[in-house]
Amino acid sequence: MKKQFIDIERRGLMLVLSSPSGAGKTSLACKLLETDPQLMLSISVTTRKQRPGEIHGRDYFFVTPHEFAKLRDDGALLEHARVFNNDYGTPRAPVEKALSEGKDVIFDIDWQGTQALSQTARGDMVTIFILPPSCEILEQRLKNRAQDSEEVVQDRMAKAVDEMSHWAEYDYVIVNEDFEQSVAATQAILVAERLKRQRQIGLSTFVNNLRHVY
Ligand code: 5GP
Repeated sequence: MKKQFIDIERRGLMLVLSSPSGAGKTSLACKLLETDPQLMLSISVTTRKQRPGEIHGRDYFFVTPHEFAKLRDDGALLEHARVFNNDYGTPRAPVEKALSEGKDVIFDIDWQGTQALSQTARGDMVTIFILPPSCEILEQRLKNRAQDSEEVVQDRMAKAVDEMSHWAEYDYVIVNEDFEQSVAATQAILVAERLKRQRQIGLSTFVNNLRHVY
């Protein structure tokens, strides 16, 4: 029998991933994006220096402090925050476009950005906090990245403790011990959240059509 694809119109959701640096959220986001065509990544702007291997427009839009201030003052950012002495912000236009097309958007942002987005978009948000299995593993992952100096690693370790105190503000918490399991858990969250009645805005039309058959 031919499998039918019933397409019920759905409102896009905002999947927010936060974690201390090195807990694995960037790898997790990449894996989800690779495997799920309904997802797109919100690419932030930042004044931070580009790391080796990072690509402008793929990892971040790297801008000067002056360009950042202009974007912020023009209202072009959905939220912005200062993290590790650099500015980070979420460009508004691509997110609004994706959501209106029924796509889901992943945000790799910190707790400050999550709180700011919650002020205006709580109903569209699904928030996940990723924890490392231990501080030793977190430190090792930061060192393995080998892109930051020892001083930066120690600074990030100190800030990780601070960042972790925000876990209780999130809808879901995943301890990222096994990467594949964390991917599967995030995919399960996405499947369930997409099925929420209030996100399936085409349901009443669909059910009305069903009822008209008899
Ligand atoms: P990194 O410099 O390691 O790429 O990111 C440092 C921190 O900034 C991470 O916790 C990351 O989630 C956060 N971050 C990245 N982009 C944004 C953004 O647009 N807004 C906010 N609030 N945080 C961001």
